[in-house]
Amino acid sequence: MESMPLVSRAHKPEDTVVQVGQVKIGGTQPVLIAGPCSVEDGQQIMEIAAQIKDCAHILRGGAFKPRTSPYSFQGLGEEGLRLLAEARRRFGLPVVTEVLSEEEVELVAAYADLIQIGARNMQNYALLKKVGAQGKPVLLKRGFAATIEELLLSAEYILASGNGQVVLCERGIRTFGSATRFTLDLGAVPLLRELTHLPVIVDPSHAAGRWNLVGPLAKAALAAGAQGVMVEVHSRPQEALSDGPQALKPERFKSLAAQLTALAQFLQVTGGKADG
Ligand code: PEP
Ligand code: MN
Repeated sequence: MESMPLVSRAHKPEDTVVQVGQVKIGGTQPVLIAGPCSVEDGQQIMEIAAQIKDCAHILRGGAFKPRTSPYSFQGLGEEGLRLLAEARRRFGLPVVTEVLSEEEVELVAAYADLIQIGARNMQNYALLKKVGAQGKPVLLKRGFAATIEELLLSAEYILASGNGQVVLCERGIRTFGSATRFTLDLGAVPLLRELTHLPVIVDPSHAAGRWNLVGPLAKAALAAGAQGVMVEVHSRPQEALSDGPQALKPERFKSLAAQLTALAQFLQVTGGKADG
């Protein structure tokens, strides 16, 4: 770990706690991040935020979307950021949203409480340096073909640029199957917890690509030592402009959140991991 002195556990044995608004990621309680893949319009984001506000800690929603096809919905841009800020004001949840390019870092930082670097940008080193040079905390998602070492070195870029408030997110890697969208690398979770002091969360939604696998994977993530999960939620998944098939309806998310809270209590009693 000599090549990554700042992120390594050897350099800082105690867990880093990343503060997002009033929420602490990496503390004693797992953090639940929920919301739609994309902010689509005011009614959509307010309706979802209203329904999850009592069981989620942070609201997610993409305004700048990295879409595989240039013809797919690209997000509302700054209007999406304004709607997120309005949802934060109305429902009291801090917000996380993705930044796609260096030019938009300041704009996104002006609205977001937590700035997301998506899987496709994990190795965009200019972007990493730029988010490292501003003051908002960063959610760094693992690239779907990135090794653990590459993920940690990307985090090292952000820390080396001056920002120590980084949360890592395992969101599935590409393997040979097509039954699920990606393959959730659960082993990465305890490994990352060993190698780094930075908080580690899991996004089961993008890993699975199918809503009915999201709950089981979220529970497995906490059991493996994840300090939070990020889950896509939509009131009408069949009408979603992006990632509908993997979105949980709010009622299902509420019931999952209750299960995750109970599981977290059990894990605390047993010493933080299911293996006791
Ligand atoms: C997202 O969280 O909205 C997203 C695009 O995820 P990823 O970068 O992991 O594909
Ligand atoms: Mn999505």
